[in-house]
Amino acid sequence: MLQIHELNKHFRVDGRTVPILDIPEWRVERGEQVAITGPSGSGKSTLLHLVSGILQPDSGSIQVDGTPLQHMKEAARDRFRAAHIGYVLQEFHLIPALTARQNVEIALTTPLAHKQRRQLVDDWLERVGLSERGGHLPSQLSRGQQQRVAIVRALVNHPALVLADEPTGSLDWETADEISSLLLNLSIAQGHTLIVVTHDLNMAARFPRRLNIQDINRVRREKPQGRPPGAEQRKEGIV
Ligand code: ADP
Ligand code: MG
Repeated sequence: MLQIHELNKHFRVDGRTVPILDIPEWRVERGEQVAITGPSGSGKSTLLHLVSGILQPDSGSIQVDGTPLQHMKEAARDRFRAAHIGYVLQEFHLIPALTARQNVEIALTTPLAHKQRRQLVDDWLERVGLSERGGHLPSQLSRGQQQRVAIVRALVNHPALVLADEPTGSLDWETADEISSLLLNLSIAQGHTLIVVTHDLNMAARFPRRLNIQDINRVRREKPQGRPPGAEQRKEGIV
């Protein structure tokens, strides 16, 4: 499903080159459920951005579902992502003026008649325990419910690969646990590969495959550079 070979990524900060990732080899098989942990600033989000084609590597190759991404132009990578990848983030990024149902419906890429669209979305909302909430605005939903809507939005087009970046990062532990179960159960039911980046060790412990990013990344960084430590690092006890 995912094959990474000799991958390098750096950023330019104030005229300096800051290496972020140097991954000689990494593979994820179809249907695997993988949790990646690691310190703040160690390149976890950057890795997901590369796997999803949001960013391009400086060198090396990334194959997703048999397609090499590294030489594709941005528009082609965007199309590839829309067709093959579902993305779940810490903040849900739902559109505030749209209901839960509409937030999912606008993500649907399959052309369907109005009635069928509605049925499909309502079936999904039911699957995640939100059958009574389709007509609610995000502001009328709890954070856990908003994340469920965001998960449905990511899965509704049946992506082969689902990436989640700190999906429980803004939830209390009980809700976080429910969202962890949901992501794991849906990946088994739908058959997609699931890669989650998380600080939530309870979540990581539930995954069949766990790794620290430093197990695959040769770049070692003492602490995030380029800006003073922010709330995220303080919360995580990194500084
Ligand atoms: P993590 O998700 O593990 O916390 P990130 O992948 O977000 O880490 O970031 C890794 C490092 O790259 C951090 O030091 C971050 O400040 C830096 N970084 C991320 N994006 C950029 C960018 N666009 N330009 C410069 N530096 C960046
Ligand atoms: Mg991150």
